[in-house]
Amino acid sequence: MDVNASTLNQYTFCPRSIYLSRVLKIKARPTEEQTRGLVGHAVRKELSMRQARLLGRIHHPDELEILLLQELEQIMQDFPHIYKNMLKGVNYERFIPDIKTEVLNEIGTISTKLGLLVEEIGIEKALKLITPWRVEYYIKSDQLAITGRVDKVMLEDTYIPIEIKTGQPSDGIWKGDRLQTCAYAMLLEDKFNLKDPIPYGFVEYTRIQERRPIMTTEKLRREVIDTRDAIIEILQGKIPDIGPSATDKKCKSCGYKEICYEI
Ligand code: SF4
Repeated sequence: MDVNASTLNQYTFCPRSIYLSRVLKIKARPTEEQTRGLVGHAVRKELSMRQARLLGRIHHPDELEILLLQELEQIMQDFPHIYKNMLKGVNYERFIPDIKTEVLNEIGTISTKLGLLVEEIGIEKALKLITPWRVEYYIKSDQLAITGRVDKVMLEDTYIPIEIKTGQPSDGIWKGDRLQTCAYAMLLEDKFNLKDPIPYGFVEYTRIQERRPIMTTEKLRREVIDTRDAIIEILQGKIPDIGPSATDKKCKSCGYKEICYEI
């Protein structure tokens, strides 16, 4: 039985949601906030994936903003086709104008930060720094009983996983994102039979054009394994309690909130 690395993240949100989605196979009805989040995720992720290509076209940092703005127009046309499966059955069209306005505002920050990087180290080095070796790279490990699709894999002295986050960044890094990114590092080590551990991965926050490192410590690696085992117990039929409480913010924003309390 394999556990997807994204399920490690889901576990930290709520273990019971894993039982409802994976064991009972109940499809959550997306809340307004979640539907909006899906559109925002698709548009921002696409912009992040295309950055290296755009950077490769410029001769001066001042050209970046206009290229990003033009690319956003293209993305607004492309994303429903690329994320067709994710958006299947979701009435998302009404959120498009708002999301576009938000991302238009974020492009100022993105182009400023990318421009500063180019000014500091030059286009060639900046390109090397932001161009992934692979994107959406699928890995399965029988040894770890974990699978995952890594958003970006960088190839430096070793393989470095990057998890893209398109939501509002917090001050630190959410526990779930730490587990997911660490699991990707462990998957890459196993896939390429690496003798040395991958020392870190990154979470990339697209709204602020920032990568935050996650050290793949022994403690975090152990937590990945412990969480994997807890998820396997759920997949085998263990029903997690409702929690943390009925009034909790998580339950209020959860697509299972109606059905969850009846089971
Ligand atoms: S309603 Fe609350 S307890 Fe139930 S799955 Fe959602 S977050 Fe978990």
